[in-house]
Amino acid sequence: MTAESSLRADIVEVGRRMYARGYTASNDGNISVRLGADRLLMTPKSVCKGFMTPDMMCITDLEGRKLQGDRDPSSEMLMHLEVYRQRPDVQAVVHAHPPTATGFAVAGIPLDRAVLAEVLTTLGSIPIADYATPSTKALPEAVRKYIKAHDGMLLANHGALTVGADLYGAYYKMETIEHFAKISLVARMLGRENLLSREEVMRLQELRGMYGIQAPAPICAVPGTEPQSGSIPDETCQVVQAPKGDGSRLVVSPKPSAEADEIRLTYRELSALIEDAIRSLR
Ligand SMILES: [Zn+2]
Repeated sequence: MTAESSLRADIVEVGRRMYARGYTASNDGNISVRLGADRLLMTPKSVCKGFMTPDMMCITDLEGRKLQGDRDPSSEMLMHLEVYRQRPDVQAVVHAHPPTATGFAVAGIPLDRAVLAEVLTTLGSIPIADYATPSTKALPEAVRKYIKAHDGMLLANHGALTVGADLYGAYYKMETIEHFAKISLVARMLGRENLLSREEVMRLQELRGMYGIQAPAPICAVPGTEPQSGSIPDETCQVVQAPKGDGSRLVVSPKPSAEADEIRLTYRELSALIEDAIRSLR
């Protein structure tokens, strides 16, 4: 099997797994890999990623010109080209719409809290690229903002994007993002999300180095537990929300918010209370 035919088979397999796990529906999603210095192998447009065959793939150059293939390249080709231009280290790009992660992307909630060690050591933080109309030039522009420092990101009101040093590496990051999104959703539904302390996050960062985990940028934990809206993304740093610990404890419980002391009343209940109070004054 040549390198090219093996990569074609890998794309078919990754597409099949994404569809089987519900990360894509219908013809959603797209996959590409580098095929040498100036060529890409890419899924074609308008095919279900669960039922592809190796001969369906397109070969393009880094400008997006089709060099080979019966079908046209993915409608999101511009986004893939932008990633390869910005990240010479990246060998593969995966885009899908995994439902829980995409739910966070729709809600505008980035997956950037220090919650799970394996997420911090692999992806760091998972920001949200601004919404842009799919398949237009605006989408690669939105992705450019974060791709230098991140291997995975959410796309607002759209889906998720991951990259890797090989195709399976990029695909597993998509699995990690969806798994993390599910766990985050359950923790938030349960009403509490304890966070790893800033000190522990820095320790995990050191582990990255020890185990030789490639990351495009270091983690820079910022104080507080709430994502800071409107903050400017740093191209050299992955911003993770991690509170300062007290030295011995590695996990920090959230401070009870004012909301915890809140009592909610209907208008009718409030009126009855006021009437009672007035009656007792007479
Ligand atoms: Zn999409």
